[in-house]
Amino acid sequence: MTGRLTAALALGLVAIGALLSVGAFGLVAVLLAGAAVGGALALLAGRWNRAANRAARLPERRGTLRPGAGMAMLDALPDPVISLSRRANVMTANRAARLAFPALGQDEPLSFALRDPRLLEAVQSVLDKGGEQRCALSFRTPVERAFDCRIMALEAAGARPEAAAVLVMTDVTEQRAVEAMRVDFVANASHELRTPLASILGFVETLQGPARNDAAARERFLGIMADQARRMARLVDDLLSLSRIELKEHLAPSGTVDLAGLLGQTVGALTGLARDRGVVLSLEVPPGPLMAAGERDELTSAFENLIENAIKYGKSGGKVEVSLVRAEPPGEAIIAVRDYGPGIAAEHLPRLTERFYRVDNALSRAEGGTGLGLALVKHTLNRHRGRLTIQSAPGKGTTVLVSLPCPPAVM
Ligand code: ADP
Repeated sequence: MTGRLTAALALGLVAIGALLSVGAFGLVAVLLAGAAVGGALALLAGRWNRAANRAARLPERRGTLRPGAGMAMLDALPDPVISLSRRANVMTANRAARLAFPALGQDEPLSFALRDPRLLEAVQSVLDKGGEQRCALSFRTPVERAFDCRIMALEAAGARPEAAAVLVMTDVTEQRAVEAMRVDFVANASHELRTPLASILGFVETLQGPARNDAAARERFLGIMADQARRMARLVDDLLSLSRIELKEHLAPSGTVDLAGLLGQTVGALTGLARDRGVVLSLEVPPGPLMAAGERDELTSAFENLIENAIKYGKSGGKVEVSLVRAEPPGEAIIAVRDYGPGIAAEHLPRLTERFYRVDNALSRAEGGTGLGLALVKHTLNRHRGRLTIQSAPGKGTTVLVSLPCPPAVM
């Protein structure tokens, strides 16, 4: 009877050992059972199997959790999670934490890997007083990253050394970059609008005051005011087009266009501008139509932008060549807009599609540029699943390459 009781007790211990998945605990329980009951164990084999099966099923029940499964779950989280002892030593760190902070070491002070004083202060405060603290953490090396950190006190339970606090870090790098871009964008857009507006207001005051009876000055000033108002109108138009195209960037275009025909019309419409600037504008397209999935109006304004840029900024080269070819293997069309102007230095190339980025501010304004043209082209091509490549070097002219998918269904 005593043997049976001991066996049942040992069986219970084994089951708990299995439940906790702590190998050593389970092993001790098995040894205990073996020593105490000997042959009685064989008798109980049936019960053993049932209990083991129950133990294996237990983790699926509500309220139970195997530490191994818990760690696997923490490792699957995209955000760093670190548990800390009472002395602020690292007890466990999930995969995201180990990747983000390779200097983290088991049982080593958190401060060895994360030195930010605000974070360490917040951790200490939670360890001393309990509760929860939040703080922001950002660093620039090896790559710029920003985290929103929460440190929460944990209830201590049992005799084993328990984690006293947990640090959860949410990666907000992308969110911060988007916020910074939005702030920059509003500041830039306001500045771009404020300059012509200030100029118009200045001329209005002059016309109301000192130049009231000066007919010649009035004519001149009204001309300048009209130019500035047109500049503001262009800017507002481009801003609206940009927000419209951004809104539908994720939607694939529903129409189909013949790129050869579209380029023919666009080049035709810009021949006057080219002639005025002393530029010979030419177009080379393969025979027959070349169909692509796309929105006619959006692609027309994208190509207008690129050809206008080539005429305006590359006019010193005297010619602009537009060409369309089928890529090999088929499935893509490549459109090239080539000018023989001054070209662009390498450091500017990656930034040209940023809103309001200009190589030469004065030249862009003199040419009526808003600084939004290439940003619009980029977003239009994103929507059309196309690509934009700008090849340029000082003194060598500029070639802008656009590739657009031409799926067989529309070719
Ligand atoms: P903008 O309205 O100023 O023309 P874009 O976004 O179209 O704005 O172009 C950004 C800048 O890129 C221009 O201000 C100009 O400095 C430069 N750029 C664009 N195309 C060319 C080109 N073909 N040759 C030289 N510079 C160019």
